[in-house]
Amino acid sequence: MDMPGQAKGKAQTTANILVVDDNANKRTAIASVLEGLQQNIITVDSGREALRSLLDHEYAVILLDVQMPGMDGFETAELIRSRALSEYTPIIFVTAYTHAETDMLRGYSLGAVDFIFTPIIPEILQAKVSVFIELFHKTQLLKRHEEHLEALVEQRTGALTAEIAERIQAQERLQHIAHHDSLTGMPNRILFVERLKQILSRGRWHNRSLAVLFFDLDRFKIINDTLGHEAGDHLLKMVGERLLLCVREGDTIARFGGDEFAAFLDDIASPDDVAPIIREFLHALASPFVVDGHEFFISASIGISLYPNDGTDAKTLMKNADIAMYRAKQQGGNSYQFYRMDMNIHALQRLELETALRHALERKEFVLHYQPQFDLEKGHIVGFEALLRWQRPGWGLLLPMEFISVLEETGLIIPVGEWVLYTACIQHQAWRTTVLPSLRMSANISGRQFDENDLPETIRRIKKATHIEGISLELEITESVLMKSSQPVIGILQEISAMGIRFAVDDFGTGYSSLSYLKRFPINILKIDQAFVQDITNNPDDAAIVRAIITMAHSLGMKTIAEGVETREQFEFLQSQGCDFGQGYYFSPARSAEEMRSLLETNPIFNERYITARENSLSKKLHH
Ligand code: C2E
Ligand code: MG
Ligand code: MG
Repeated sequence: MDMPGQAKGKAQTTANILVVDDNANKRTAIASVLEGLQQNIITVDSGREALRSLLDHEYAVILLDVQMPGMDGFETAELIRSRALSEYTPIIFVTAYTHAETDMLRGYSLGAVDFIFTPIIPEILQAKVSVFIELFHKTQLLKRHEEHLEALVEQRTGALTAEIAERIQAQERLQHIAHHDSLTGMPNRILFVERLKQILSRGRWHNRSLAVLFFDLDRFKIINDTLGHEAGDHLLKMVGERLLLCVREGDTIARFGGDEFAAFLDDIASPDDVAPIIREFLHALASPFVVDGHEFFISASIGISLYPNDGTDAKTLMKNADIAMYRAKQQGGNSYQFYRMDMNIHALQRLELETALRHALERKEFVLHYQPQFDLEKGHIVGFEALLRWQRPGWGLLLPMEFISVLEETGLIIPVGEWVLYTACIQHQAWRTTVLPSLRMSANISGRQFDENDLPETIRRIKKATHIEGISLELEITESVLMKSSQPVIGILQEISAMGIRFAVDDFGTGYSSLSYLKRFPINILKIDQAFVQDITNNPDDAAIVRAIITMAHSLGMKTIAEGVETREQFEFLQSQGCDFGQGYYFSPARSAEEMRSLLETNPIFNERYITARENSLSKKLHH
């Protein structure tokens, strides 16, 4: 069997012609006539062989002998037609002229397209076969076009599908970015609000409740300032992870930015179910966080509002959870608060307070009170601390506790702090020229005064205007100021220190700083916090802490002053431990300038002439 040039299925350039005849001479004769058509001619000698060849090849036309032993041409044709692949392949029957009439009837009924009679006339054979060859080539051409078209369509739609998929992906990415916090990957405020609204709109709240929770980390700012932002970010991530572990499936927990997180708990049976979950949150944060090998403790303040009691829409529920959170924070943190109606009143009061404070300075409502500080060994006055008071119309005299945080939050502390410093210096100068020549005046400086204005320049200006000597002035700063990105703070402190002004660290022992850390700052004195002094005589731990602070401060060349000395026992204990100075109700509370002046004039221990006299007699005694 000769092999055709091309396999079936694909478009072919040359056509295959199958010649089926049991007579070898006839086969050769037909094949040689057809050679002139320049196609592939395959010859087989039986119907069976023909069927076999049809499995492998596609034919343009089949020339089929009718009279064959075994399976004759008609039987073969029937089988050819029954196969899907050759169902439409043209068949030309080859038969003797003498059988023409009967064979043609049978042949057409079997799907023959034409007949050729023996003896064969070459021209007729060629003419008939070439019709089908041409047909075959046209079909092939059509097929190629179709294939090409199909490929084109496939290519175009392929590119389009890829583009669409890419766009969908990009859109999904954008959606994700727009709805998630980039640091923790948690949902952000936008997504949180969307989900909350969605849930509330479902309205399937028969006897069920929903809780909205607002979290704010306590003292995170200090840690962030101390460790740097990178470590702060790391810490926030860990906090997010721990919080995530506490929510049930279906609940949403989000980061709103900074150290604020929020969650809502869906499908709460009763408000009583919320508290245990909240405690779980607080508990989850309780174990220390390790960042850069340091351990940190983080706690949170949590505010809760409940649907439907505290609001039926997302905005109200969130606002009230926020108010409740603020309350929890005010109560010292690491706690939670459910929203109550009266909290809103507090929020309103705060707004009023802020407005009133904005006018207080120009309306001259601030005053300073002065609390004396004593030398514990010598038993006489060494200076004063100026403490701010607000004579609020209709309210009486307010202590800093009630308003200083608002001054700080609003930035009003900057002009007010400047006023404090100026007024204290003026007062110092007034007393210096009348009753007390060599006392020191100390004033509190808030962290924000370091951040937001040129503090050294302000002080220089005040010094010049009041003629106070640097050595007479002491500034009290808190540990948190020192914990801030220390380089700029060190610079500011050094610049001020160069004017002869001294620095005291206020409320020492309550922050994070260690004594060795303080070494790099120009600090002259540590003010031991009241909290330690309070129980100094009955709590051995506090006594030990105070003793340690005093010893270490002295070894670093610093002095110590104890705050909040209220009893004789405390005074004596501090004296016995070598604490340099003391301040507290035991000696005197803070008083107005007038009251202080009359005290200075009448009470011997406040009086410098008395002090000088006593010192003289002491030294005389020593000499004898
Ligand atoms: P501080 O600087 O630690 O001031 C000491 C506070 O302890 C004062 O409270 C003082 O009245 C109070 N105190 C004094 N002796 C005793 C005592 O024996 N027992 C008790 N329990 N308390 C005593 P005050 O005047 O209410 O001031 C509170 C805080 O407000 C101050 O704490 C200070 O941090 C801040 N502050 C006051 N004036 C200013 C100011 O002008 N500027 C700034 N930035 N902060 C100020
Ligand atoms: Mg102070
Ligand atoms: Mg203090």
